[in-house]
Amino acid sequence: MQFMNDEYYMAAALKLAHEAAADGETPVGAVVVRQDGFIAGKGRNRREKGRNALYHAEILAIDEACRTLGGWRLSGCTLYVTLEPCPMCAGAIINSRIDRVVFAAQDKVSGSAGSAVNLFETGLNYRPAVTAGVMQEESETLLKDFFSKLREERKMFRIKLIEVKTDVQIENTAVLADEIWHEWFPSILTGEQIDYMVEKFQSVGAITEQIASGGYTYYIIRKGNAYIGYTAIRPDDDGRLFLSKIYIKKEYRGNGYAKEVFEFLKKYCRENRLNAIWLTVNKHNDNSIAVYKKCGFSMIGEGVADIGNGFVMDDYYFQLDITG
Ligand SMILES: [Zn+2]
Repeated sequence: MQFMNDEYYMAAALKLAHEAAADGETPVGAVVVRQDGFIAGKGRNRREKGRNALYHAEILAIDEACRTLGGWRLSGCTLYVTLEPCPMCAGAIINSRIDRVVFAAQDKVSGSAGSAVNLFETGLNYRPAVTAGVMQEESETLLKDFFSKLREERKMFRIKLIEVKTDVQIENTAVLADEIWHEWFPSILTGEQIDYMVEKFQSVGAITEQIASGGYTYYIIRKGNAYIGYTAIRPDDDGRLFLSKIYIKKEYRGNGYAKEVFEFLKKYCRENRLNAIWLTVNKHNDNSIAVYKKCGFSMIGEGVADIGNGFVMDDYYFQLDITG
């Protein structure tokens, strides 16, 4: 084994950065290389999927190198990273006594090897040698492409679906349901039935129960800082996704937000190997039926369900097949 040149190891770090990008993470990769050329640790950014602020490429590469080499002291090693280290990673580099840091792209915002601050020149007793700009263009292109794709996606999705988990979120959902159902259904159902249904299906207790043991997942639909509606789903054993609820506040209707929710659900189906979305809709709910049809749903049946207290739901069943 022999030590190759800087480009060789930076290419290895860039490969990891590409893997991060493919996984939806900001593309940053790092390798720790011993002086004999042995790659002792590899890491790539995993912050999103790992749901952890510490999971930067350098930290993970250093972590692996310490375990591989059997100690915290990485003197004699060089760390290659595709983006200038942040303060946390600069700290980890100092604390692991890495001899040399080689990075590709600069980070004007939080780069801690000179761009925003220089933590390697603070008069601490340990100071690694720094080489900047190795394969800079490759890394910059990768980062730029990643962020422009992200911006495109953000433009496509004006709303955000937030999974309902906490008691406060459940309460917010119940408030949304109470408001929207009493505004939406009077032309279709009696006030008595609406009250009954809101209490039976959309009270805090009912939603809590559906999430805890009914297999339901609720999402609040957020646009900016406003809660504009909610949706609830349940994957069925037959490989379909049951869309139990989708309600959007009056002032936000007619803007294509429902369509965005369907795009989200289609993605959910693909990720969870579900082959269709199905739902029930009141036969007189003409506006909703029109929206479903416009979004590609077609009628697959009808049925009357007894929901107690002398009330029934007289529904059509609609389905959207997921392809591709
Ligand atoms: Zn970092």
